[in-house]
Amino acid sequence: MRRMICAAVLCCFLTLPSFAADTPKYLALTFDDGPSGRFTSRLLDGLVEREVHATFFLCGYRIEQYPELTARIAQEGHEIGTHGYAHKFFNSLSAEGVCCDLSKAQRCIEETTGVQPTLLRPPGGIYDTKVLRQTVCAKLPVVLWSVDPEDWRRTDSDAVASHIIRKAENGDIILMHDMSDSSVDAALRVIDELTAQGFRFVTVSELASLAGSTMQGGEAYYRFSFEKNDSISEREAETEPCTNPAFPPPRPCKAAFIARQNSRRSSCCVPMAY
Ligand code: ZN
Repeated sequence: MRRMICAAVLCCFLTLPSFAADTPKYLALTFDDGPSGRFTSRLLDGLVEREVHATFFLCGYRIEQYPELTARIAQEGHEIGTHGYAHKFFNSLSAEGVCCDLSKAQRCIEETTGVQPTLLRPPGGIYDTKVLRQTVCAKLPVVLWSVDPEDWRRTDSDAVASHIIRKAENGDIILMHDMSDSSVDAALRVIDELTAQGFRFVTVSELASLAGSTMQGGEAYYRFSFEKNDSISEREAETEPCTNPAFPPPRPCKAAFIARQNSRRSSCCVPMAY
């Protein structure tokens, strides 16, 4: 009898989860450059199966190629951000060029999904003061990343998945691309393995909200800190793609340009929402 009681107590002790295992850790999976035909479809199937929501930073020109797929991303509850229209690096464009590209992409997303994007990931993660000024006007926070497995150049899905699994910490934003089978394979393996380790996958906006952070235009976010009194770390990066310039005081961006576009609605740009 005593032996049975000891075994029962030992069993309880062994199966009792630790406090750390009970505390969920949160990650945001993000996918750039799509939608991308069968790769995005496969990814969406895998996400539905796992009941996981991700964040997709879509290119306007690809939305025009895959409108049904774009609509499906929104219908299945994923967050949609803009990755610009033509995937041009914004540091190579004038302020008006950035505004035009963002406006065109915004129109594509709204017309296809009925959703107005509230996040921007600039192509290449490249931004400067000129871009930040536009994002203040457009109310688009810049979302970068804290974990980058470089899946756009690696074809070994195990290497991509292992990089993410090794690096992931609570509050991280993971950069991926739904542009290849190896990326899709890696993403689904990452979800399975990190879920088993106690991580939960949420959208970028959900991650910010869970961490008590309010995102705003003119700011760039790399990850979100769940440590109180540590507000700076939400802007820390594993590798910072560009220096974060001192941001000038907000002012109306390109009012004359917007007014001109308002009077010429048939041109490539639409006015941005202010
Ligand atoms: Zn990109």
